[in-house]
Amino acid sequence: MIDFDLTEEQKALQKMARDFAEKEIRPIAEKLDRSQNLLQDFPWDMIKKADAVGLRTIGLPTEYGGPGYDLRTWVVLIDELSYPDVSCSKILTQCWKGARRLAQQGTKEQKDRFLNAFRDDPTYLLGGARTEPGAGSDNQLPYEAPEAGVTLTAQRQGDHYILNGRKHFISNSPVAKMLVVTARTDKTLGGNKGCSSFILPTNTPGFKVASVHDKVGFRIYLQGELDFDNVKVPVENLLGGKEGRSGSEGVASKVELAAHAMTLARAALDAAMKYANERIQGGGPIIHHQAVAMDIAEMYQILQAGRSLLWRLAWSGDMDQVDPALMHSTKVFCTEAALKICLTALEIFGGSGVMRELPMQKYVRDAMVFQHMDGTQQINRIKVGRILATRLNQEGRLSR
Ligand SMILES: Cc1cc2nc3c(=O)[nH]c(=O)nc-3n(C[C@H](O)[C@H](O)[C@H](O)COP(=O)(O)OP(=O)(O)OC[C@H]3O[C@@H](n4cnc5c(N)ncnc54)[C@H](O)[C@@H]3O)c2cc1C
Repeated sequence: MIDFDLTEEQKALQKMARDFAEKEIRPIAEKLDRSQNLLQDFPWDMIKKADAVGLRTIGLPTEYGGPGYDLRTWVVLIDELSYPDVSCSKILTQCWKGARRLAQQGTKEQKDRFLNAFRDDPTYLLGGARTEPGAGSDNQLPYEAPEAGVTLTAQRQGDHYILNGRKHFISNSPVAKMLVVTARTDKTLGGNKGCSSFILPTNTPGFKVASVHDKVGFRIYLQGELDFDNVKVPVENLLGGKEGRSGSEGVASKVELAAHAMTLARAALDAAMKYANERIQGGGPIIHHQAVAMDIAEMYQILQAGRSLLWRLAWSGDMDQVDPALMHSTKVFCTEAALKICLTALEIFGGSGVMRELPMQKYVRDAMVFQHMDGTQQINRIKVGRILATRLNQEGRLSR
């Protein structure tokens, strides 16, 4: 039975995450957002402090010294951690997803080698590299043809694979110690069966961060363009020990992303309500004008709908009952809701909304970036449409 009450442990974690975010993230968020040297300004100090209270290793299972929290607990934590700044939070939660993926898809030997190393090093960050300059949505849909999708090759040579090619837009890669890299192991097959995933320590010779992307929002959550020049990876690093499994972070990725979107929207709504209560025009606080009150009511309704959907998706992930149509829909709904709420909040701020000294313009810039993470909105919608069409054919109805 789905339940919206928090456990005592979740309430304690909620407070811990809120205290951490207000003390360690809020004071640095604006400066990081304005950074002109993203790598130099990267918040290593915040990462180390987060590690000290367990916020870097949330995705580790108990057998590797982690907390083994369920996805609903992730939502509770992200709802506090990302409230002052989604960027700082996302650096950490990208590691939660990476560790969970390795724990679910790695061999015992791979988990022993990499999860223990990850756990024991406070500056060990993780990422996953699939997208390439010529292969974006084709990896997501996927357009299942040999000529489509990943072109970075992994050629077997004895007890190694040799990786050659280029990736881009890869989160955390400029600062990560380990990446899971999707590479083409069979050029005659489509992107699913023809690709495999490799665990790559980023100090491997031949691997290079060619450049760090500069975005309009989520600025200190870094993406890199990556060069692979005869990168030699031992066969023991083939994720799961088998070729033809490109894999992904699945429901955890959608929950983690939608949770950030909903928290950003909540922060924007809170700021807009506070401003509307203080700003006097037309003889009183603008919140008393119907037009503004209706905007606020609509923002609240969309926010609550998104939060309910998110909790349901997290619950279904915890119960191993994920409906893929609901999963992709949650990503689209929550990230579009965040953009709509942030834009409406900007409007409520009037001219002050676009002034750099207030956070509203940052909320909008951050909300824009969500739209293309974890597959574009169109691609996620196409997936939903395909699932529903199949379900209709098989079951004769859609209701669930
Ligand atoms: C901030 C950020 C972080 C990211 N982090 C990572 C990461 O950590 N790892 C990683 O591997 N990738 C990452 N990505 C990449 C992301 O997954 C891709 O940007 C996304 O999949 C879209 O690919 P693309 O940008 O090449 O767009 P394209 O695929 O070129 O799409 C362009 C447009 O065409 C539409 N389109 C494309 N194909 C079709 C089709 N068949 N039918 C209908 N419409 C279509 C798309 O919806 C879109 O509107 C990140 C991206 C961003 C912005």
